[in-house]
Amino acid sequence: MRKDAGNFRQIPSVDEVLKTAVAFAAVEQYGRASVVRAVRASISSARQKMRGNGAHPITTDAIAGSAVLHLEREARPKVRAVFNLTGTVLHTNLGRAVLSETAVAAATTAMREALALEFDLGEGKRGERDELVRDLLCGLTGAESATVVNNNAAAVLLVLNTLAKGKEAIVSRGELIEIGGAFRMPEIMSRAGAKLVEIGTTNRTHEKDYKNEISKKTGLILKVHTSNYRIEGFTKEVKADRLSEIARKYNVPLVNDLGSGTLVDLSKYGLSHEPTVAEAVSEGADLVTFSGDKLLGGPQAGFIVGTKELIAKINKNPMKRALRLDKIRLAALEATLQLYRDPDRLVSTLPTVRLLARKKADIEALAKRVLPSVSNAAGEGYEVSTVACESQIGSGSLPQETIPSFGILIRSKQRGGGAIAALSSAFRALPTPVVGRIEGQALIFDLRCLEREDAFVANLASLRVEIGA
Ligand SMILES: *Cc1c(COP(=O)(O)O)cnc(C)c1O
Repeated sequence: MRKDAGNFRQIPSVDEVLKTAVAFAAVEQYGRASVVRAVRASISSARQKMRGNGAHPITTDAIAGSAVLHLEREARPKVRAVFNLTGTVLHTNLGRAVLSETAVAAATTAMREALALEFDLGEGKRGERDELVRDLLCGLTGAESATVVNNNAAAVLLVLNTLAKGKEAIVSRGELIEIGGAFRMPEIMSRAGAKLVEIGTTNRTHEKDYKNEISKKTGLILKVHTSNYRIEGFTKEVKADRLSEIARKYNVPLVNDLGSGTLVDLSKYGLSHEPTVAEAVSEGADLVTFSGDKLLGGPQAGFIVGTKELIAKINKNPMKRALRLDKIRLAALEATLQLYRDPDRLVSTLPTVRLLARKKADIEALAKRVLPSVSNAAGEGYEVSTVACESQIGSGSLPQETIPSFGILIRSKQRGGGAIAALSSAFRALPTPVVGRIEGQALIFDLRCLEREDAFVANLASLRVEIGA
């Protein structure tokens, strides 16, 4: 006890620490309240350490220094830009689509200024938020009407809740998918208050399977585009155009959840054809749902397009209010949709299309240019080379499809996986974290999504690898 009491006296007081030059500068930057809190925390942890090992005295400067370190760490934004070198263009964990410059500008204006969000400037009275994008959506998809909500999961939930609450929703067993996270079709149905009626088998569903189940209790028939997996071999599904004839005959709505619906034919850019929203509409679905931040390349959003009558019904559902979009995203969305009016220029105007269409030869030239800098930064312990690789679209779109790309491959000269894990972690600790992928014993950076080459190279100067840490 005596010995401890003696040591505690060697811990400086809060006031003493606040008088140091370091603390003075910190107050300028972070404000007095934050600095006092951080200094208290440093003193308390120093005291605890002393109790633990009866350690040496601690200086005022050491306390101030540790408080400032803590403040710096706290002030660093959690939402940070990273270099996505995973090779997955629409990486859900890295924020999916990167937005166009016009969308960024529109969102910025929407943040900074008052705007005619729900205000009819012609009439000078209350307007409707959906009006901002409805005409554009109808023009691009051929649908009669449209609405937009938080994301496609919300779109599906809202459609089911509006048309099938207390009723039955008919879905093929081959289309009862899990999209990721906790979003499973059967669960979303029960949350929406719809009773799921599964028909057919995993691999084969026939027209008669639908017809046998349609009754007065049917709220809708749901077709789900199984964009994230494929059943091959002995299979049968009822195509949307045929299904719409059945739905019409029995007078029940047909809803087609496209997921990553695109507004343009991707085969123009050398990718496989993914059903477009206009196709789904023309095949006769009464409603089509799709995402804003998958292939469409906009902000997170979920679209519902279809007949005037059904869209009006959806807009009357009180849930719509809970799922609506904010002004910032609406602004970005409108700007993104505008770009589709000039599809020939999407390769230069829309980052998602630009990145997906980027040619392997260009990426290879980029890989050769940055190779020396990466090699230099990684240092003696690693072998660094360029490598041909395959990119993916991501977010469940065209999962079988890979796009030829080029990148950097790094192997450790030592045996064992620790050195590659350490290097990968050092790249993630850079001022702008670099996220690649580990394959076998190698770290691979697919350069398809690397556009800010100079910033990438400058960033490498801070690389510090701690093997065995
Ligand atoms: C991705 C996807 C969803 C969910 O869309 P989010 O915009 O991510 O909410 C729903 N249905 C299908 C078929 C999908 O592919």
